[in-house]
Amino acid sequence: MRMALLGPPGAGKGTQASRICQTFDLVHLSSGDILRSEKMAGTPLGLRIRDFIDNGLLVPDHLMIELMQEKILGLAKGFVLDGYPRTLNQAQALNRMLFEVHRPLMLVLNFVVDPEVLSRRFEGRRICPECLTAYHIDSMPPKVAGFCDLDGKALIIREDDLPDVVRKRIETYQETMAPVIAFYAQLGNFKTVNTSGSFKDVTRMVLDKIRRHFEDF
Ligand SMILES: [Zn+2]
Repeated sequence: MRMALLGPPGAGKGTQASRICQTFDLVHLSSGDILRSEKMAGTPLGLRIRDFIDNGLLVPDHLMIELMQEKILGLAKGFVLDGYPRTLNQAQALNRMLFEVHRPLMLVLNFVVDPEVLSRRFEGRRICPECLTAYHIDSMPPKVAGFCDLDGKALIIREDDLPDVVRKRIETYQETMAPVIAFYAQLGNFKTVNTSGSFKDVTRMVLDKIRRHFEDF
């Protein structure tokens, strides 16, 4: 199985990707993790990438595709791509590359979330400024409200999770992802799943969708 997950920040792609990988024995390819590990490994490609990251610049699409290709060719099993592609150019370049190495995507799963649910997920996020442990007042509350379980520091809201910033992030996502979603929808092997429910319900729905898709594949 080779698949990609699309969805706005807060849709639960990362956690669902881990669950999908456990269930179907796949490798989780998160673009952020790949960049970090490549940078740490100090490979020739990693060194080129490090210059961009260390200078706070976005890694150019062609380097990212090169990196993805290297990763994917090294895999002995299928994968779940999470956090990539983020633009139409990236989607097209990724598609070309995967066809060239005879490993096209077999499913693109598009996560959608009701707007009120998405806002609530962000509003509830808290982080410890000391040890960076993440909490959520609904789904992962600390033992004592407002304080870190590990060191007792007062929890804070990250700048990225402030309501205005969140609204902007979601708007930007929707604008840049609309053509990506249209691109995959016309290619086929594209399914949408509403991930507004509880983690448990969403996991069951996601796994069901994947099973049914690959039964017909
Ligand atoms: Zn802490």
